[in-house]
Amino acid sequence: MQSLEFLRAWRERARRWQDELPAPEPLPTAAEAEAALTRGEPLIQLVDPPIAPDRFAALLADLASLYAESRPEARPLAEGLAAAAPGDRRSLAETLLNGGDSASWAARYGVEEDMLLALGGLALQPVMARFARALERVAPLHLWRQTRCPVCGTAADLCRIDPDNIRHLHCPQCDTQWEHHRLTCAVCGTDDVRKVSILTLEGMEPWRVEVCDQCGGYIKTLDQRHGGHLAMPRVDLYLEDARTLQLDLLAEQEGYRRGGRAQ
Ligand SMILES: [Zn+2]
Ligand SMILES: [Zn+2]
Repeated sequence: MQSLEFLRAWRERARRWQDELPAPEPLPTAAEAEAALTRGEPLIQLVDPPIAPDRFAALLADLASLYAESRPEARPLAEGLAAAAPGDRRSLAETLLNGGDSASWAARYGVEEDMLLALGGLALQPVMARFARALERVAPLHLWRQTRCPVCGTAADLCRIDPDNIRHLHCPQCDTQWEHHRLTCAVCGTDDVRKVSILTLEGMEPWRVEVCDQCGGYIKTLDQRHGGHLAMPRVDLYLEDARTLQLDLLAEQEGYRRGGRAQ
């Protein structure tokens, strides 16, 4: 649904929002964070991300107006949010944050519910990224080797092998990266190397897809060992994800699913 151009503009704006948002408090101590990670619990179980509904509503309104620049069908939402009373905006924000009746809000603003939910998810990214960057500073994330995010618990969406041959997984929700074993499936974690193989597509290198016959899942992987402009540590993986959709199509044609087979 999102064009690369829109995503690029949104990522830039999301970074600005991220800088303005408050840090979670109180932050756990390094010892508390270490104990949680050692128990296999993501840090979100120790402290909640600070999300003020009014701030989230402002973020959503900003995002909707940006989206409406290239998507006329989003205009009613952008205009509706710009004109809405603060109380209404807050109620919508609370509904999206807490999982309420989003269908009736979508109908009220004359947009598809899917669009409203997708924008709600995107608006959460800077909030969660702010949360994660604060926790990263106190928590020894190198202790974590699971396939879900050590900060928020979301399943990894992408993988990166850095120039030193260390594999990092990426969280789509909070943009955290953490180290993970090579030669395991990044979806189900199996270390049976016979189950994992690689698909490539001409013109898409240094990206490729790792697929797993144990769980039926796939994950796109950026191999940074050969240098080039994609070899920097903080390459924007959200944009790269959108730019490499052909690899998703390839994996799906071969019968693999992002996140693995439905249980
Ligand atoms: Zn996360
Ligand atoms: Zn697997």
